[in-house]
Amino acid sequence: MTAYDPNNIFAKILRGEFPCYKVYEDDHVLAFLDIMPRAPGHTLVIPKAPARNLLDVKPDDLAHVARAAQKIARAAMTTFKADGITLQQFSESAGGQVVFHLHIHVMPRHNGIALLPPASRKEDVKVLEDSATKLIAALQGG
Ligand code: AMP
Repeated sequence: MTAYDPNNIFAKILRGEFPCYKVYEDDHVLAFLDIMPRAPGHTLVIPKAPARNLLDVKPDDLAHVARAAQKIARAAMTTFKADGITLQQFSESAGGQVVFHLHIHVMPRHNGIALLPPASRKEDVKVLEDSATKLIAALQGG
């Protein structure tokens, strides 16, 4: 498999070289909003440790990401008044992966509303700021 490339955009976000709409962080993971959401509140959860995708991630790092994805999913249900949640993870180009640092998509879903196609539109900054503020409050139990 191709080696991890530390110049990918999510590695830059982790190093603070590129901004993000952060919603959650602990010693092992970072979660931030997808700037081209397929549904309102679409969030990405990534490990802090380098991993290209599901195929090379250390099981403990994957477990940290999964736990954080559950936290985000629970908070997103109330924040976005969702009816359900879709998780997605793409590995390698053939699997649909575009950014090569492992990430799990957490997408709040509403009955009868389809996901937008991937990367179909860049969300308005105000909407992203508002979503981040509300999700952070819910994650902090407020
Ligand atoms: P994939 O690798 O196919 O799972 O998709 C990568 C995802 O990252 C897409 O949903 C993009 O909209 C999202 N994305 C790309 N660049 C950024 C960024 N700078 N901040 C937040 N999300 C991003």
